[in-house]
Amino acid sequence: MNIREFSENLQNIYQEMSNCFSDYQKATGLHCLEGCGKCCHNPEVEASVLEMLPFALKMFDENKLEYWLEKLEDPAQDFCLLFESHSPDHSKGQCGDYQNRPSLCRMFGVAGHFNKYREATLSICKYIREKYPELSEERGKQATEENTPMLVTWSYRLAQLDPALIQNRYPMNQAMKMALEKVALYAQYQERP
Ligand code: SF4
Ligand code: SF4
Repeated sequence: MNIREFSENLQNIYQEMSNCFSDYQKATGLHCLEGCGKCCHNPEVEASVLEMLPFALKMFDENKLEYWLEKLEDPAQDFCLLFESHSPDHSKGQCGDYQNRPSLCRMFGVAGHFNKYREATLSICKYIREKYPELSEERGKQATEENTPMLVTWSYRLAQLDPALIQNRYPMNQAMKMALEKVALYAQYQERP
């Protein structure tokens, strides 16, 4: 599988993930806060290099590879450079490439995981929990493996495409830079005479 086929297959999984997690938020009423960008402002958000390939290929196709490599050489901010801030404290904003955001960004709001008794447990972003305390508790009690998008299920789907998709995660800016370098190398050997 070449890098473009890989990226297309990954984007198909990304789309399924988005539908699954946003349908769950709609069905449970546990919505993200409007215009919120607090998770993007967190320097601990991580992605694997392969997860950032769709973004990197898009930048290559738009002739923005050099621009982004330079921008990421010595990033002035420790949180994701794709974040477009709409407030001085960066609590509001949006993703600069929402279609190609990596898996963690799709699962952060509300997701299921297994506790030590292998019971499905709901993990809810603290800002959503603060806004909907009673609903959060109620939905937490109702969570089952069958009715909740489970982190492990989606990690497994990604690992089936390539185990490297869930291994070796880096801070966002580092993962982005490494993916852009990978695409630059690929382009040199595969797509140019
Ligand atoms: S990729 Fe987008 S959604 Fe993810 S941290 Fe960066 S700006 Fe936020
Ligand atoms: S997951 Fe939480 S921090 Fe992130 S956008 Fe939604 S409400 Fe905001």
